[in-house]
Amino acid sequence: MSQADYYEILGVGRDAGEDEVKKAYRQMAFKYHPDRNPDDPEAESKFKEAAEAYEVLRDPETRARYDRYGKEGLGGSGFGGFSSTDDVFSTFSDIFGEFFGFGGRAGRGPRPQAGSDLRYDLTVAFRDAAAGTEVALKIPKEVPCAECGGSGAAPGTRPETCRHCGGAGQVHQSQGFFRIAVPCPVCRGQGTVITTPCAACRGRGLLHEIKEISVKVPAGVDNGMRLRLRGEGEPGKNGGPPGDLYVIIRVEPDKVFDRQGQDLIYATEIGFVQAALGDMIEVPTLEGTESMEIPRGTQSGKVFALRGLGLPHPGGRDRGDLLVQVTVTIPKNVTKKQEELLREFQKLEEQKPMKKVKNFFKKAKEAMGN
Ligand SMILES: [Zn+2]
Ligand SMILES: [Zn+2]
Repeated sequence: MSQADYYEILGVGRDAGEDEVKKAYRQMAFKYHPDRNPDDPEAESKFKEAAEAYEVLRDPETRARYDRYGKEGLGGSGFGGFSSTDDVFSTFSDIFGEFFGFGGRAGRGPRPQAGSDLRYDLTVAFRDAAAGTEVALKIPKEVPCAECGGSGAAPGTRPETCRHCGGAGQVHQSQGFFRIAVPCPVCRGQGTVITTPCAACRGRGLLHEIKEISVKVPAGVDNGMRLRLRGEGEPGKNGGPPGDLYVIIRVEPDKVFDRQGQDLIYATEIGFVQAALGDMIEVPTLEGTESMEIPRGTQSGKVFALRGLGLPHPGGRDRGDLLVQVTVTIPKNVTKKQEELLREFQKLEEQKPMKKVKNFFKKAKEAMGN
């Protein structure tokens, strides 16, 4: 523990504000930074001294105690100065992150790692996919422990630099002629060890949680579409950003409609008299029913398009079409009276047989290229 006065060390007055203290410390840290003063024990001790002063003065509570009782007043707070420069970096990583890049030193300690992406397969009913819906997903995931702020160290303590690897997170092993770097077995590559684990998370810094996330499924989604929820994946490590959650959509088939992109397909049957003479029929739509005209002389297999009655484009305004495919059915059984009428019809048809035959030959000739 340093013997000098903390205000003197940082070169600020006793009435200096928080920002002034921080600014003074940044200047000292920069001046005596080990990367700028390699193998300079004096710079190193000044570097640690400044960190010690800043740790006391940045916190209004410890600062007030120091102002009243001096260093004796800090005895019970678990404060004991910094044994190594790595302790300084891990404690004030926010400060060093501001002007030296993350963590303050290259190649030391654990690197920030982005969290993993999560995938969730969501099955939605056809009508929900058509109209759009909101679904509450229950995602099992790891969240940073609120008790320890994700550090894994009990509140009031902090992870200490691993003695085995000196904070590097890796150690060298000899294998035959080679020396290879392997993750430190003591700190498991973290560079720090937790001496007093947080009770809430048992030192993991993370808690298992079922997180409920509300997802808006846009109208018109189709099979295989992905919704990306930024930052809802696994949390990052060592200050890295969280991953994303990808919701993969599967749409259940519908009893009434088939689907082709944003077009709906509805298949229906009509009688041969309806087809020949024309009729009005009712077809189902997503919203209810719609009247549709079958024109005279409609052939089996004909497709009619009802514009704009299909599925909306996700995120767009226009809609696909409702395609109605009609199949003309021939009665399997007819009554005596119906048969008489059909034979009558047949006689009338026979009065124009030559046209049919002529047509047949004409078509055959055309097919042969004459
Ligand atoms: Zn915890
Ligand atoms: Zn270690």
